[in-house]
Amino acid sequence: MHELCNVLLSLTKDEKKELINLLKNTNTKQHTNLLEKRFKNGLYCPRCGCVENIVRYGFKNGHQRFKCKNCGRIFNEITNSVFMCSKKSFDIWEKYIECMINEFTIRKSAKICGICITTAFIWRHKILDVLSKKIDDIKLSGVIEVDETFFPISYKGSRQMPRPVRRRGGGTNIRGISKEKVCVSCGVDRGGNILGMVSNLGKITKDKLNKVFGGKIIDNSIICSDGEKSYKDFVKEHDYKHVIIKSGRYKNGIYHLNHINAYHNGLKGFIRKFNGVSTKYLNNYIVWNNIKKMGISIIEGVVDIVCLMRYRTFADRPLIPVL
Ligand SMILES: [Zn+2]
Repeated sequence: MHELCNVLLSLTKDEKKELINLLKNTNTKQHTNLLEKRFKNGLYCPRCGCVENIVRYGFKNGHQRFKCKNCGRIFNEITNSVFMCSKKSFDIWEKYIECMINEFTIRKSAKICGICITTAFIWRHKILDVLSKKIDDIKLSGVIEVDETFFPISYKGSRQMPRPVRRRGGGTNIRGISKEKVCVSCGVDRGGNILGMVSNLGKITKDKLNKVFGGKIIDNSIICSDGEKSYKDFVKEHDYKHVIIKSGRYKNGIYHLNHINAYHNGLKGFIRKFNGVSTKYLNNYIVWNNIKKMGISIIEGVVDIVCLMRYRTFADRPLIPVL
């Protein structure tokens, strides 16, 4: 930095002007990219949702501004997005998203972006919170494989610890399906759509299946599951077709649980990389894994969503997010 200062001080007046213009232009270019990504389906007002009567309204800090004649308010490409109200410039966010794509640790990402570790942690989950809204309207159809998988409860990073810390890799006290484990209910269809979230503690129930899959499975779908009673009851209630697969078996060649089993293995591997994810944020890591599997771009997913979340509400979420 010291050397850079010396170089800057040695510049002539014209050279300084040129440098300032150069810096200004790179900033505008970043904003233009985002502008196009956010409004890829045409301009809309992020404040009132109006798509007509929007006029250009000059530049401020390198951002093209617009005025909505419907609500009379001014906006730009980051209005009501997760990037708003951030003191950091958008190019740092973009660099951070690049770190997320590379699945770097919080510590490494913080170092690359020149932000503190707490900020890096908050950014990760702000982005994932937004992406969870992005995939909220995904529906499953056709042949759908459903099954649940389990994760040990983790209170990592939480100040109120309801019970003594278990050493990582030590295993929970009770074997098999116990209330000590978080049940994640998942479904995948043959079109590559994925649904998965924390549903409850211990064994899956029909009510929880209704909460996970309610309104998210297209009529006349064919559900493949194991022989667990909750699935039988769930399928019966919704009048879907049901194919029960005994473990390690196929039915008619096309009905099996291979895709859901592969999905579970992938999810476990993905989460293992982060060295002990706390249950409080487990849903966000599932979202991250799913958008990756479904080929959704993080940056485009993020700018697509109107986000009004503020810092105060950030950590305000349950330690165990059961439905
Ligand atoms: Zn408006």
